[in-house]
Amino acid sequence: MQRYSVFAVAREALRFHKGWERAWASPEPKKKYDVIIIGAGGHGLATAYYLGMNHGIRNVAVIEKGWLGGGNTGRNTTIIRSNYLQDPSAAIYEKARSLYETMSQDLNYNVMFSPRGVMMLAQTEHEVRGYKRTAHANSLQGVSTEFITPERVKELCPIMEIRGPRYPVLGALWQARGGTARHDAVAWGYARACSAMGMDIIQKCEVTGIRTEGGQVKGVSTSKGEIDCDKLAIVVAGHSGQVAEMAGFRLPIESLALQALVSEPIKPCMDVVVMANTVHGYMSQSDKGEMVIGGGTDGFNNYTQRGSFHHIEETVRALVETFPIISRLKMLRQWGGIVDMTGDRSPILSKTPVHNIFINCGWGTGGFKAIPGSGWAMAELVAKGEPGPLAAEFGLNRFREGRFIDESVAAGVAH
Ligand SMILES: Cc1cc2nc3c(=O)[nH]c(=O)nc-3n(C[C@H](O)[C@H](O)[C@H](O)COP(=O)(O)OP(=O)(O)OC[C@H]3O[C@@H](n4cnc5c(N)ncnc54)[C@H](O)[C@@H]3O)c2cc1C
Repeated sequence: MQRYSVFAVAREALRFHKGWERAWASPEPKKKYDVIIIGAGGHGLATAYYLGMNHGIRNVAVIEKGWLGGGNTGRNTTIIRSNYLQDPSAAIYEKARSLYETMSQDLNYNVMFSPRGVMMLAQTEHEVRGYKRTAHANSLQGVSTEFITPERVKELCPIMEIRGPRYPVLGALWQARGGTARHDAVAWGYARACSAMGMDIIQKCEVTGIRTEGGQVKGVSTSKGEIDCDKLAIVVAGHSGQVAEMAGFRLPIESLALQALVSEPIKPCMDVVVMANTVHGYMSQSDKGEMVIGGGTDGFNNYTQRGSFHHIEETVRALVETFPIISRLKMLRQWGGIVDMTGDRSPILSKTPVHNIFINCGWGTGGFKAIPGSGWAMAELVAKGEPGPLAAEFGLNRFREGRFIDESVAAGVAH
């Protein structure tokens, strides 16, 4: 793999940028792989990367029906935080956050991780109690967060109107090392590293069937033909229900559209991420100056991967109370992704009823932040056939046993 460095940039500048190699190869599928991963989103690619790096398994194909990172990974609003309430969640999200800290160096690819700080506003007494509780839980979990006063909120984010009118800001849960990263770059960085390890990333190749024999996976049928494998990982977010059906089992997952929008670019005015869960909206400013705005999921299950007018109105109406300046902004574009929601708003990293098929899904509205931790844990599950400590609590059996990891407060609305 060609190393990216300041010297490489200088060298290429001198020769009119004609010497750059392709970042990843575009191979035709082989007949058989040790592991096939369906879905080249962040989670699928990170799974492949850690299979190679941590477990030495490199005869791997990542099969993608569209283009890599073109699902939710390339559509999300990139909030990274680990201030979850339950211990298993805090563990996997904090693992992910800490891997983000060194991701650019690890992948030799600038993913623009920006730990600018994330605050979750408390705008009702219930939220004050809830977030204070989370801050206490986080300190026991070794996750660095604090509950801050309204004055500190205003100091960190001066454009905010903290006095109301309907919901004054009563404080916030603040994670100073939370932030954002460039979503495409995360997918591209992993893809480049996987390709360099000799793995095949096969784009524009849809999995249309899963072949099993005697309760054991044999391979997949795709738009580019039949491909055999010893192990199969399904990592397709909002399409998990459909792909699981191909293997003959059902999942406790609902698929919904989640939308976001950006404004026209403006001068820097906000250098933190703010989430306002009572009014149902959140905002940050991108490096290009656009205000990145999102809200809740659509109120009904659907596979509509696009934006809608009612959503713009709902989300902007919610945020304009706390951020009056956005009333004067023009909207630049809007889009949607299909997110995979579980009942307890926690992910599934699990074995399945079919031997050697593994599933990673249920990240819902908040899986971008989890990509490296999820890939780390999923690779361990696929390589060893059993979950390691990070994935152990997130098995499918928890739904049968009623052993939920309830993150509806931390993840139901937020990202
Ligand atoms: C608008 C929006 C805002 C969000 N904001 C945040 C945020 O701020 N912070 C955060 O942490 N998370 C956020 N999320 C959630 C986050 O984007 C997802 O949880 C995460 O990207 C899921 O990654 P993934 O790799 O599992 O899925 P995806 O990136 O969706 O990848 C799955 C891939 O599987 C492919 N696929 C599906 N079916 C098949 C098939 N049959 N054959 C082959 N390939 C197939 C798809 O094409 C897709 O590329 C947001 C999501 C959306 C939509």
